[in-house]
Parts: sequence; C-alpha cells; structure tokens
Amino acid sequence: MAQVCDQCRSKLPRGEAGPICSSCRAKIAAAEQREAGVIAAQAKYDEELAAYSANALATIDAAVGAGGTSFLYRTVHLDVDSLMEEQRPSSGMDLFDLNHSGALGWEVVASIPRTYSGSQTYVAKNKVTATSFGGGSTVQRVSLSGNVVGTYVLMKLAITSMNRAPLDEWIRRILADSAKERLGARPAL
Ligand SMILES: [Zn+2]
Repeated sequence: MAQVCDQCRSKLPRGEAGPICSSCRAKIAAAEQREAGVIAAQAKYDEELAAYSANALATIDAAVGAGGTSFLYRTVHLDVDSLMEEQRPSSGMDLFDLNHSGALGWEVVASIPRTYSGSQTYVAKNKVTATSFGGGSTVQRVSLSGNVVGTYVLMKLAITSMNRAPLDEWIRRILADSAKERLGARPAL
C-alpha cells in the first residue's frame, strides 16, 4: 500500500518518508512564519501603545504638578429619534453616559450632528413599461442625505492636582483609547 501524507492524504512522492509531504510541510512552515510575524507586530503595537500613554501621562503630570491644567477630550455618540431603513431604530437620547461623565468632571464643549447619506436602488415589479422601452426592468435610485441620525458630543475634562489622582484610571483609559485611534487596530492572527 502506498504511503499517504497525514495532512492532505495524497500519495507521498517517491523518496519522501512522511508522515507529511514536503508541500504540506512548506505550508505549515509558512503559516508558522506568518504567525510569528503577527505576534512580533502585536508586541510592537503594545509597546507603542504603552509608550504613547506613558508620554501623555508624563506631560499631564508635569503640567498638573506645576499647578497647571491639562485637558482630555473624548466623544460620546448619542442616538436621536430618527428612524431610517437599515438604521437601528433608537429609543431616544441616552443621557446616562453624559450624566456619568458630567459627575466625573467632563464638560460638553460641542455637539456634531451625525447625518445619514446614501442611495438605495429600487427595482420596479412591473416590467411591462420597461420592456416597451427595450430594457429589462425599471431601476430607480433614490438619494438620501442630511438626515440626522445621531449626535457626536465632544467632551472636555480639565485635569488639575485636585482630580489627577482620583481620576487616574479614567485618564489612563482615555489616553489608551486615543492611542488606539492613532495606531489603528491591533494586528490579529
Ligand atoms: Zn500533504
């Protein structure tokens, strides 16, 4: 009985001992190399993320330590009462996050409406009209734009020596979030 590769079950080429064929061995080696590359990229990403946060934190601490004020910014998205096709219906503005943030010292500095723009294609069921014009079916595109579907709220937090320590966890989280925005998605396997 001819020997077969454990991986792809194809007949082992003459002179190959197995248990897997050279082509499968090469594929496995390439996959392992890819994986090692991603793991290295992840380590680099984590290092950059930590460095970015540490630098920002050091800058804040220098300012706050000298009696100054530093500011952090973040955006919160609020749904508004808007119902659009393909848009998740919302139950109204959710003020929970705003109130929670406000209690921690965040202040709303601006709100930017988020609008929906796009077009949708409708195919008419009745093909009689279209056939008489030599076409297949009637297709219409309807454009939609400027419909407000939500609001981005820009929030500002003033950091002073008074709240630097109690808000440490928050500050680190916000800094890490902005670093992630800059760095993009973490490489994945
Ligand atoms: Zn094989």
